[in-house]
Amino acid sequence: MSTAQDKLVEALRKTVSRTSMLAEGSDPELDSVLQQARADISKTDDIRVVELAMRSIEPFLLKLDQDRLSKAQSFRDGLHQLLDTLENLEHYQVPLNEKKAFETSLRSKWQSSAAWPILLQQFANLAKSTFTSKKEERQSSLIARLFNKEKENKDDKQSPQVEEVTAHICHKLTGLVRDLQLPSEYETQAEDIINELKDGKDLNHLPILLDEVISLVLVAVGKPQEDLATYLTHLNKQLASINASIVTSYKSQKNLSAQREDFDTSLQKHVEDTNFAISEANDLGALKELIGQHMTELNGTMGRYREQIKKQEEQSTQSITNLKSKVNRMEKDAMNMRSRMQQKIAEAMTDSLTNLPNRAAYVETILPLITQSKTTKKQLCLAVCDIDHFKKINDTWGHLAGDKVLRLVPKQILSAVGKEDLLFRYGGEEFVLLIPASSIEECRAKVEAVRASVEKTPFNVEGQPVSVTISIGMDYLNQNDDHESLFARADKFLYEAKESGRNKVVGGK
Ligand code: GH3
Ligand code: MG
Ligand code: MG
Repeated sequence: MSTAQDKLVEALRKTVSRTSMLAEGSDPELDSVLQQARADISKTDDIRVVELAMRSIEPFLLKLDQDRLSKAQSFRDGLHQLLDTLENLEHYQVPLNEKKAFETSLRSKWQSSAAWPILLQQFANLAKSTFTSKKEERQSSLIARLFNKEKENKDDKQSPQVEEVTAHICHKLTGLVRDLQLPSEYETQAEDIINELKDGKDLNHLPILLDEVISLVLVAVGKPQEDLATYLTHLNKQLASINASIVTSYKSQKNLSAQREDFDTSLQKHVEDTNFAISEANDLGALKELIGQHMTELNGTMGRYREQIKKQEEQSTQSITNLKSKVNRMEKDAMNMRSRMQQKIAEAMTDSLTNLPNRAAYVETILPLITQSKTTKKQLCLAVCDIDHFKKINDTWGHLAGDKVLRLVPKQILSAVGKEDLLFRYGGEEFVLLIPASSIEECRAKVEAVRASVEKTPFNVEGQPVSVTISIGMDYLNQNDDHESLFARADKFLYEAKESGRNKVVGGK
């Protein structure tokens, strides 16, 4: 299909769609035909479908036009009859200028239902003028009436002819009210007016009744222009604020761009269509209907959007929950890992035979102690303790007896020192004691006590006590020391202790 033809079909499609919207709300049967037609043409670019849709609507539109016309005709005829009634009154004169103005107005406006209230108002004014002219006549005979009260009273009463005319007008107005297509909430009000009109004979009451009829006609033909403007302004504001809030939330969400773009486009289209409809339509009732349609579509779009957002929120919540449980699992794993690591480290730092910290732990411990001691200027004493002739114990009583001695000796050492002093199994039958102390004397006494305690180790083999002693080389940390230089000095003193007879403390003086 050519581009020009495409455009033509598109234009036709839009026209049928919009015309059908304008016609809606008049007849339920027509409404369903219109909805079907709109549904058919909304999806097509086939000119035959559009033609078919137009043909299905045409008879209804014609009927609608005829209905409108016949209603308008009966309204016009009714007003003509009312005017005739006014003119045929015996004692009243219809003002000629006002009558002509009313007739001109009626000729030019009767077809448009929107002008009916104005015409009715004009007739009401004309009737008022007609009846006032008679009153003035009566006022002029005031002096006469002052002299004849009885006559005045009689004159004050409405003549049977006026009653008849009033009743006739009321009857006509009843017919008009019955013909009005009113929203259901106005039905009671209409019934009340019809009841009042039924007994309407009082000419003075007629203007009030006319006012009530006019207000009902206004309702039937649509909102007054001012109300509509307010309504449209409100609607526009609503659309703008909905648009703004959606745009804001749209902008704040960074992902899911495709879905949101679709929504944005469709929303903009709604707003544009509504604006277009407002500018194009000139029948107030139809415009209201049209805006209702747009609002429904907008609501649908909003609903779908809300669904999407809800789904996204659910997905987000789900992924957050998943993430949380993942993090929890990770945390648990990390904790397990940490405690396993700590266990491994502890194992790696502990001697399994004696349960004492081992050489690795000794290195880990002495480094910060040296730094601390140098900073605080407090004494740090290192004592290397070596079991005397241990090889002989092993050789004489066996390896297990040797192990037993290896477990007994640290107990003896620890029983002679405080909680703050630290003992390590440095290797073989060698132990290192670290004593953070305030004075050299205190240290020396403590180490001497250690030696004496080991001498008392309760070690018996085959019921016989076996002597267990240690030799100790000790020294204090000085400002130039690292752990190796300190150890080397203490170890040298240990050698001296061994050389000088064992079971001795050497160094640390
Ligand atoms: P000294 O008084 O000069 O220190 O003589 P010593 O026999 O104690 O020294 P030496 O270094 O000659 O012998 C140490 C022995 O300690 C050698 C080794 O078999 C033994 N030993 C080392 N570790 C263990 C252990 O875990 N269990 C047992 N039962 N013996 C061990
Ligand atoms: Mg040794
Ligand atoms: Mg030894």
